[in-house]
Amino acid sequence: MFTRNGNGQHLANGNEDGKTVPLQFYFTIDCDWVPGSQVGLVMLLALCDRTHLKGTIFFAGRFADAYPHLVRNCRDRGHQVGTHGWAHGGLEEDEDFRVADYEQQRRWIHQATDAVEKAAGIRPVVFRAPNLSIGETTLRALEHEGYRYDSSIPARRFDMGFGRVHYLKYFWSPLEPYRPSRDNLAARGESPLIEVPPSSCLFPINMATLRTLGLPIVQRMIRWIGHRSRHLVFYCHPSEFVYAKDQVFPDAMSKWNQKGMCPANLSILEALLDYVLKHEYRPAQMMETAVRRLDLEQPIGLKAGRFQSDRTYLEEGQR
Ligand SMILES: [Zn+2]
Repeated sequence: MFTRNGNGQHLANGNEDGKTVPLQFYFTIDCDWVPGSQVGLVMLLALCDRTHLKGTIFFAGRFADAYPHLVRNCRDRGHQVGTHGWAHGGLEEDEDFRVADYEQQRRWIHQATDAVEKAAGIRPVVFRAPNLSIGETTLRALEHEGYRYDSSIPARRFDMGFGRVHYLKYFWSPLEPYRPSRDNLAARGESPLIEVPPSSCLFPINMATLRTLGLPIVQRMIRWIGHRSRHLVFYCHPSEFVYAKDQVFPDAMSKWNQKGMCPANLSILEALLDYVLKHEYRPAQMMETAVRRLDLEQPIGLKAGRFQSDRTYLEEGQR
């Protein structure tokens, strides 16, 4: 029933042929600390209601602090809430989890976790690193703060100078959800956290790519990803749906990037959702996937030791 891949890990039959398990679509929103962008979140929530989509929404701690009613509202509508750094989005010198030391990262994560918990009434366990800038130290800090999921590792992504991912360390990391090694996030290992990598085909499957390259090219990227992974993780920011003049950005932010921000982006996003949901993708949430992956009756050490990373995909298909 199981075969081994090149790394000696077990793979369930059918996991790589794209047939056994339905395609999963994860709609995610990164709420950076950008005053004025909260209007964009309200618009995105309305879009989710119209399309019956439940997403995973990552909050910078300061955003949650400033707009707790919105965080609560997200939870009440059935979206999952996670954290996305403390003040990321509003800083001239942004938080960088790839280079910050362990104590600093703990502080950022802890403050953000408290803010989201205070607002939403539940303790978040899902994390996305600001600018997808993450390292092994981050995984350690997340583990100690009680986190169970991360969605930051930029597999198959290289922005070629346009975006923020201009290193190849994680380029060949797995495309499917996996437990990373504590020593190397790009390899499978024993971490209690599950990584759900944001999808990429050189450029990320996000709103910036969608509004820059257009839907037909993004559709081709999605088909490429669909041949290699059953999981498609899309992300966007509330700020992208609000005119830049109505928001407060750090001075260092490029004017070119601000130029494309407008409410009309909502209809481009709607067209993408329409395409994805009509092409066999089924909406999925990160923690929902993970709950099926965890045998809650076993202690975490046992579970990690016996964990067969791709086995649960069959269970997903039998849902
Ligand atoms: Zn962000």
